[in-house]
Parts: sequence; C-alpha cells; structure tokens
Amino acid sequence: MTDPRRRIPGVDRLLASPECRPLLDAHPADRVSAHLRDAVAHVRERVTLGDVPETVEDASLYVDMAAEALLAEEAPSLRPVLNATGVVLHTNLGRAPLARSALDAAARVGAGYSNLEFDLESGRRGSRYVHSASLLRELTGAEDALVVNNCAAALVLAVNTLAAGREVAVSRGELVEIGGGFRIPEILDRAGAVLLEVGSTNRTRIDDYRKALGAGGACAILKVHRSNFRISGFTEEATLGELAELGRESGVPLVHDVGSGLLADPSLLGLPDEPRPALSLAGGADLVVFSGDKLLGGPQAGLVVGRSDLVARLRANPLCRALRVDKGTLAALEATLRLYRDPPRAVREIPALRMLATPVTELGERGTRLAERAREAGLRLEVVASVGAVGGGTYPGVELDSRALRLEPGPGGADELAETLRRGDPPVVGRREEGALLLDLRTVDPADDETLLARLLEAVRLGTTP
Ligand SMILES: *Cc1c(COP(=O)(O)O)cnc(C)c1O
Repeated sequence: MTDPRRRIPGVDRLLASPECRPLLDAHPADRVSAHLRDAVAHVRERVTLGDVPETVEDASLYVDMAAEALLAEEAPSLRPVLNATGVVLHTNLGRAPLARSALDAAARVGAGYSNLEFDLESGRRGSRYVHSASLLRELTGAEDALVVNNCAAALVLAVNTLAAGREVAVSRGELVEIGGGFRIPEILDRAGAVLLEVGSTNRTRIDDYRKALGAGGACAILKVHRSNFRISGFTEEATLGELAELGRESGVPLVHDVGSGLLADPSLLGLPDEPRPALSLAGGADLVVFSGDKLLGGPQAGLVVGRSDLVARLRANPLCRALRVDKGTLAALEATLRLYRDPPRAVREIPALRMLATPVTELGERGTRLAERAREAGLRLEVVASVGAVGGGTYPGVELDSRALRLEPGPGGADELAETLRRGDPPVVGRREEGALLLDLRTVDPADDETLLARLLEAVRLGTTP
C-alpha cells in the first residue's frame, strides 16, 4: 500500500483549487498559504500517527482549517464584552461605557481635523486644555480646570508641581492603595515629593497636621478619599474645612484626591453621598483631582479643578506634556460634561448613571421576559435576587439590589459553562455563585438582551447548560 502521506495535497495545488477561491478573495495570499501550510503539517502529523482522515485528499479539509485560523487571526484583541457581573464600573471590563453623544463627538473629531490646538477666533495657535475647561468651571464652581490622562496622572502632576523635593503632609489613615499597584506613598515618591506622615491609621486630628506643618518643611496638604475601603470604630479625622483653614493660615495649598468624580446628586442614583468636586472646592480645597471614567461616566481622564494660579502652574509643568490627553478623550469628555447641565438627562443618557438608577422592578421584569423566551427555546433558567456593586473602587460596602438569570451548569460544571460564555462572540462575563452561574441584568444594556439570549442558546447547543 502507498504511504498515505502521499495522498495529502501540496500547498500549491490547494491554492489553485476552486475551494480556496473565496479565501483568496477575502485575505492576503501569503496569509492564506501560511495557514494552508500549517493545515497540511497538522494533517501530516495525524497521518504519521496512523490517524488518516477519510477526506485526506480533499482540498476542503485544509481550506476549512485555514479559514478558521484566518477568522481567529482577524478577530480584534480588544473587543466588546457583555458585562453580566453586576459591577457597574468594572475596571477589568473597561469601566464606564460612554454616552451616545460622547461616542458621536469622539467619532466626529477623530474622523477629520479639529481645532484641538487652534483658536478659531484669532486664527492663532490655541491650547487643547481650553476645551472642557469652561464646562468644568461651570459644573464645579472652579476658577480653572485641566484634563490629563487619568486621576493617577493628575495626582502626580499636582504633587510634582507643588512639592518636588519638598514635603507633602498626608494622614497615615490615607496612605492607601487604590488598586492596580497605585499606592499613595509610592506615587508621592515617584512624583519627587517627600511624604510627611501625619497622625495614626485610625485617628488624625487637625492638631496633628498643625504640628507637622509647624516644622516648616511641608508645602502642600494632601487629602485622599478612602475610595475602596472603610474604617470604623475608634476613628477620627480632620474635616476638609479644618484642613482648608490650616492651609490658609500656613500658606500651603490643600489638594483633595476625591477619586470617583461624582458630579450628579447621588440621591438621583439612590446612592449615599460621596465626596464631590464641587462640594470639595466649596469646602475650601485649593485643587481637586478626580477620574473621568468612574462615577462621572465619561472617558478615561484625570481632571484637576481649582485655583487658577495653581492650575496655571500645573499646565506649565513639562510633565503635563507627558501626561497629555488625546483629542478623542477631550471630545467625549466635553460631550459627557455637557449632559450634566440637565441632571435628569445625564442620568438617562450616561450609561453608568442609568444602570445605577435602574429600579430593581424593571430588572425583574426584563429577567422574567428573558426567562420566558429562553424556556420557549428549551433553556431552563430562573430569575433570582442578586447583589451588584458600583465598582471602580467606589462605594465600598454599598450593595446594589439587582436581578440575575441563574443558569445550571451541564456535566462539565460551572467552570465549563463560564468558559463557553466567555469564549463566544460577544464574550459574556457573569458571576459564579454556589455552583451556578449568575448573569446580573443591571450591567447589561437592554439593547443587548437578544444577543445575551442567543449566546445562552448557543451554550445549550454546546451542552454546557441543560
Ligand atoms: C480611582 C482613584 C484614583 C485613580 O484614578 P484613575 O483615573 O484610575 O487613575 C486616584 N485616587 C482615588 C482616591 C481613586 O479612587
């Protein structure tokens, strides 16, 4: 008998086959031949081990393998995911989804040229930093504003500008890690400042700050919001008002890192209060830094608002150039901020705010509709109570009452079910609970319900859920 390896067609013959035509029409020839070579090598290996496919002579065997590899190769690495975790500002899933008007603004500005650094009035060179500044002034009451890449960058810039080579007074209770390796002591160090620790972990009084500043070395007070944890029990901290007064007496600016950047009234979202940039400025902070993509619900950005002389110094720092923000970000940020002029509209149109404000009854009704449709298609699932979170290192301990679809795993267990949902298109990321998989509806856009259902039915077909 002839060696079965001789029955494997050569790559040239495969390239010339009619089966290969559609692939060559859609993809570069060198990629097609590379994948055909891989397919041939793979089949050759099987055949050598004695496993001869029935269709070993057919071009379609190799062309289909190449087609699948080409498809995988062309899928973007960064792509949309359905967030069914119930965590609204999920840092690993891209934090805040953008409002329609923000996406449109970024697309319009990105598709062509813009007046990014061009003053249309005078026809002369302008500054990219003017574009969101007036809205930020209007919304926070600040004298001036500056936008950089993220809140971490804003803090580095503020500390480096105000205190390079000098001391910054920070309470020991606020030497926090924000997440992703962002630790206040290390950030201060890298920003070139010297950390002046004040008070103790659980109690820091205004007199502790006064004593620390009395030594004369400090040239800024930094107050950091403990975004992602709470301390309780025998605790005490100096108020913002006390710190502002001490700062004025001592002639050192007070910088407040509020983190989340809540611009809306939290009662509109059914959430407790949280430091807000406007309130912090009104309370006497000289500079406030916050994130664009946490509770503000905009693009990743770091916003600085406050005293115009200090903002001008930050803008003049060469480091500002290294932390410079992109035009797409500026366009999306400006459009997002504009929505806040009408707070109920902001809650309707900014996805993160809308998800936070959605009444749980509405989630329950959606769940029931989805479960009915799923049952008609032969999929069993239940609607159950679920607990979501705001996320993004904000509102620690605040539980969002929510509703989820509960799926029983097939014989492969919850791991296999979760993997099936993760690996499809679009990937669906849920939450594991007691051997089942929960798909929390608060963080799924209702416009994606059909897609979610289709992915669930696919999981049934693949046998990873009964
Ligand atoms: C989240 C957070 C930061 C970092 O914000 P990014 O925009 O992610 O860089 C800084 N400070 C506080 C208090 C935060 O909560």
